[in-house]
Amino acid sequence: MIYRYACDCGERTEEVLPMNKSKYLPKCRKCKKKMYRNYGAEHGGVIDHAGNYPMESDAAGVHPDQVPETRAFDSAHGVPTEYTKDGNPIFTSRGHRADYCRAHGLYDRNAGYGDAAPKNITEAMNRSRNPKVRMAKAIMAGKVPMPEFRERE
Ligand SMILES: [Zn+2]
Repeated sequence: MIYRYACDCGERTEEVLPMNKSKYLPKCRKCKKKMYRNYGAEHGGVIDHAGNYPMESDAAGVHPDQVPETRAFDSAHGVPTEYTKDGNPIFTSRGHRADYCRAHGLYDRNAGYGDAAPKNITEAMNRSRNPKVRMAKAIMAGKVPMPEFRERE
């Protein structure tokens, strides 16, 4: 599941976490305060407005070494995407984010109209090169145990 977070300083981020980790709150990368759930954005509400973009996504991030391969995948699926040097994709609009998530089999909790939705989710997850998607798939299939989550610095 993609969970989205906001901070009082204006920072926005999102993370892929299993459903039983919904209480987890990341630390803000800018001011180090604990972030809060951005429910409005998760539900496709008014908080997900144009001012949130461009948005860097931790949730869909890949290892920096995998950026060239992932970029090739993105282009082949009609969602050319720029990445930070940390391997996080930069979404330029809500539509770009929705298309990217759909191509990679990522979807929001309670996806709203126009957002990536669980339609054809298995098929999308099967073709995704995103290591986080592949890990989520392996966990769901019971092939690997649920990883432990730790606080990030
Ligand atoms: Zn902050």
